[in-house]
Amino acid sequence: MKEITNFINGEFVATGNWFDKRSPYDGKLIARVAEAGRAEVDAAVTAAQAALRGPWGRLTVADRVEMLHAVANEIERRFEDFCEAEMTDIGQPAHFIRHVDVPRGAANFKIFADVIKNVPTEFFEMATPDGRGAINYSLRAPVGVVAVICPWNLPFLLMTWKLGPALACGNTVVVKPSEETPQTAWLLAEVMQKVGVPKGVFNVVNGFGPDAAGEFLTMHPKVDAITFTGETRTGAAIMKAAAEGARPVSLEMGGKNAAIVFADCDMDAAIEGTLRSSFANCGQVCLGTERIYVERPIFDAFVKRLKEGVEKMTPGLPDDPASGMGPLISQEHRKKVLSYYRIAVEEGATVVTGGGIPVMPEPLQGGSWIQPTIWTGLPDSATVLREEIFGPCCHVAPFDTEEEVVMRANDNPYGLASAIWTTHLQRAHRMAGAIQAGIVWVNSWFLRDLRTPFGGSKQSGIGREGGVHSLEFYTELKNVCIKL
Ligand code: NAD
Repeated sequence: MKEITNFINGEFVATGNWFDKRSPYDGKLIARVAEAGRAEVDAAVTAAQAALRGPWGRLTVADRVEMLHAVANEIERRFEDFCEAEMTDIGQPAHFIRHVDVPRGAANFKIFADVIKNVPTEFFEMATPDGRGAINYSLRAPVGVVAVICPWNLPFLLMTWKLGPALACGNTVVVKPSEETPQTAWLLAEVMQKVGVPKGVFNVVNGFGPDAAGEFLTMHPKVDAITFTGETRTGAAIMKAAAEGARPVSLEMGGKNAAIVFADCDMDAAIEGTLRSSFANCGQVCLGTERIYVERPIFDAFVKRLKEGVEKMTPGLPDDPASGMGPLISQEHRKKVLSYYRIAVEEGATVVTGGGIPVMPEPLQGGSWIQPTIWTGLPDSATVLREEIFGPCCHVAPFDTEEEVVMRANDNPYGLASAIWTTHLQRAHRMAGAIQAGIVWVNSWFLRDLRTPFGGSKQSGIGREGGVHSLEFYTELKNVCIKL
């Protein structure tokens, strides 16, 4: 069995306390993880602060860029190890991990290294009373020690999405991976060590959130900025922690995203896209669509075809090519999702398909498997249409007019993403403007260019990351004025 340790000041550090990491697909113990306490978190933050003043802080941008490319290359060299770690941590089908999660992890280091290398600076000439004038230009300085708090749903992709820009901008980091998915951060520590990233630049502390490593880290006075991905409630707690010392936060939080399907859509594309947007990663994607609105003339046909698609999603192990879906991350999360399955029925939903636990062969019975589920027949006020479930389920409702569907889609506390399916050009643009969300996809879903802004509106987030937008958070923009 693996023993996963913390990584502090360039060293792998065990502690007296261990917690268990269990497999989502059979419930067996796959690793024990060294839990960081206050002392380890303090050591990690102190090391990160010292590294800022040490060799890392003195590197030129070109040297930093070269080092981040070396990190990406080493991830690519150890591609199989990262895939294996991610598959055993989250249990999802191999093709997603191999084609999205791990490659994106490596790309996050390259893209942001290139962004920082190519970012232009502002320059202004100004007049002065003595006629000699002055020039102004801006410099980007690192923010300092950045705490990176990560979720479990796409662990490697989402962790590196923060680390790439944070390190490219010259910061040092202390990462707190989710307690559910400790493996890839640990592997990344080996990569950092191998390519010679200076001690203290990248640190990992393992553990839980409240009154544990997560809170010790976000409350630590030497942390200069906090970047977080996770639930909205946790984001609010982190914002409170950041208020102490008035430190900046970047929050990527929950969603209750709507897909809107017009009668003029390409039906095949809309079905294929909705099957992915509602059920990929067993529905554990922040950008996933749990609310589907379908224009009335195609409503019945759409529900029928979605049902057929869902019923072909056979649950299975990650490396089984026939597997259409993995399990949920944990038994605890399954309890939460099943409680929503019950509430939907209590509130009057028609269960089109699913609604329970699939029968799995004996060795997998200890896993957190769940049936993908479609409901119809609920009003927009129903609990499963208001709250984020984060499971493989969606509610499909008919609508009659564009104005009506805009109002219904926007009537929700979240505003992360939306998918619009239509072949009507003007309507596509009108809808893109009217929907309250940080990201609107038209005739696609999860099509991501890493240079574009990413983040949520309303309770789905604060701030935007991606491309040059990440620099707003990970650097201090400094104006230099030189009198000539
Ligand atoms: P979570 O909020 O439970 O945990 C996220 C991280 O925060 C974990 O590392 C956890 O240990 C830590 N944490 C918990 N309480 C804390 C506290 N008080 N102080 C400091 N750290 C604390 O989220 P999760 O269940 O891991 O992830 C699922 C959620 O993440 C969903 O709501 C999903 O929508 C959201 N998410 C959002 C995005 C996005 O980009 N907007 C992306 C992925 C996931």
